[in-house]
Amino acid sequence: MPTDPDPVLGLMMERPLLISSIIDYAACVHGHVPVVSRDAQGRMHRYTYGDAAKRIARLAHALKTLGVRPGDRVATLAWNGHRHFELYYAVSGIGAICHTVNPRLFRDQLVHIFNHAEDRFIFADPELMPLVEDIVRDLRTIEAIVVLAEAAEMPESDRKSVLCYETLLGRQPDAIDWPEFDEKTAAALCYTSGTTGKPKGALYSHRSTVLHALSSIIGHDNRLDSTDVFMPVVPMFHVCAWGYPYACPIAGAAMVLPGPRLDGASLHELMEEERVTLAAGVPTLWYGLMEHLRQTGGSLTHLRGLVSGGAAASLALIEAIESHGVEFMHGWGLTETSPVATTNLSSTVQSGLEGDAAQRYKLRQGRPLHGVEFRLVGDDGAPVPRDGTASGEVLLRGNTVIAEYYRDEAASAAAFDADGWFRTGDIGTIDEYGCLQLTDRAKDLIKSGGEWISSIDLENAALGHSGVAAAAAIAIPHPKWGERPLLVIVPQEGESPSKEDILGFLKDRVAQWWLPDDVAHIDAMPLTATGKVSKRQLRERFRDHKLPTA
Ligand code: AMP
Repeated sequence: MPTDPDPVLGLMMERPLLISSIIDYAACVHGHVPVVSRDAQGRMHRYTYGDAAKRIARLAHALKTLGVRPGDRVATLAWNGHRHFELYYAVSGIGAICHTVNPRLFRDQLVHIFNHAEDRFIFADPELMPLVEDIVRDLRTIEAIVVLAEAAEMPESDRKSVLCYETLLGRQPDAIDWPEFDEKTAAALCYTSGTTGKPKGALYSHRSTVLHALSSIIGHDNRLDSTDVFMPVVPMFHVCAWGYPYACPIAGAAMVLPGPRLDGASLHELMEEERVTLAAGVPTLWYGLMEHLRQTGGSLTHLRGLVSGGAAASLALIEAIESHGVEFMHGWGLTETSPVATTNLSSTVQSGLEGDAAQRYKLRQGRPLHGVEFRLVGDDGAPVPRDGTASGEVLLRGNTVIAEYYRDEAASAAAFDADGWFRTGDIGTIDEYGCLQLTDRAKDLIKSGGEWISSIDLENAALGHSGVAAAAAIAIPHPKWGERPLLVIVPQEGESPSKEDILGFLKDRVAQWWLPDDVAHIDAMPLTATGKVSKRQLRERFRDHKLPTA
């Protein structure tokens, strides 16, 4: 038998895919392109990629002076702003790990995350300092807190370990020869917020980050290039703002970083003043923007495309956006997938569709980015046909998908199938063109305004009420929030606790925004074959439930 000859290696150079190469490239090729940010007080800051590169170099020198070493975790607690952008590049550029922390998490989750990551420093926006001051005594590894502010704006603090960002940058040199290291080196860390157990860390590498940025530019329906002004409304504290702070400098798109004011009026004002052409965020934000335009009769002069992900968008929302002459593009992904895994790029498939069918196709979460592969499996792990009808769990493989969780063997063991594919916990159908549509979620979670509510924690709290024999919380679609919790209870025999009674009981036991929007009473919980509450049957039964808040 003749054997296949050995493949021949190409004779090309191999340069590591490092994040520092992005800012060097942007400074060189798109050095004049603006980066604009608005802070919590509404003040604007303007500079260019060229200016940013110089400040990033100064920050990198400052970090080294502070004693930051390769592999160290440096945490950020900050909104979308230019200093946060600088941290993304300087921390990773010197081989340390930029750990973005979500300030909206609960105290216990925050304490767990900082201690688990063993962060040495926290770089925090001044407005978030009360939060830092509240938790810092429980953080075991933090050596100093750097406030993202000018010296004159420093908040009062008794601690010697509270430093000023601008003072730190001081007279540091504004050029740097970035170190070269293996492209597989860790660059950024982000914890999931959704699970009922402890948050789990996704540790992105330089290679995965650069590949994700490149493939997401290509996976952009409404283009992303040097004619664009892009506004990532999606927070930089979660999943690297969907990779846009890396993609925009490569594409040469200007960036507008909106800070913490994300209500419809503030977004609209910024979009108009800064001539934003594209923006990305969760549907709740776009709902707020559309409501504002409806109430004020306002219009969108420059905006041509909105990217929406993190939760499903409704047809009503898509049509409202399109009524302003703005293209809508759906995307899907998870913390574990860098995060964009699919985008609903329009293609010849859509152009062959008409009317209602064409509109409904936009509800789909889309086709995978280059480098991401799908597997669709049933409960037994067997493949499910890709016919657009049969549903199964979506499994993923690719260069931008985690291979394991950070320092969490138990969570890692549960998250992959026998061949190493990542189990997303999302249930959907895939059509013959490879387009995914989510239909359900295996994960017991409710996503409200892009943030997770743990149904199990809600249920456990409700079970503390003496009149409740069984409780299940399920997500009900909500026009503004995407999903809101409905608490379904089976009362104890002879008891009939009212909705007010249950909500009053929960009020002191869960965060205010977790409180169910409604409480429904049933006689018995539907169960699965293994005796668990069948959320699927409950969701089916309450499919048409109207929330009083909707
Ligand atoms: P996270 O890890 O917090 O970014 O959340 C990831 C989860 O959000 C996914 O597993 C989905 O359940 C949900 N999700 C993300 N994007 C979408 C989308 N476009 N439509 C519906 N659900 C989504």
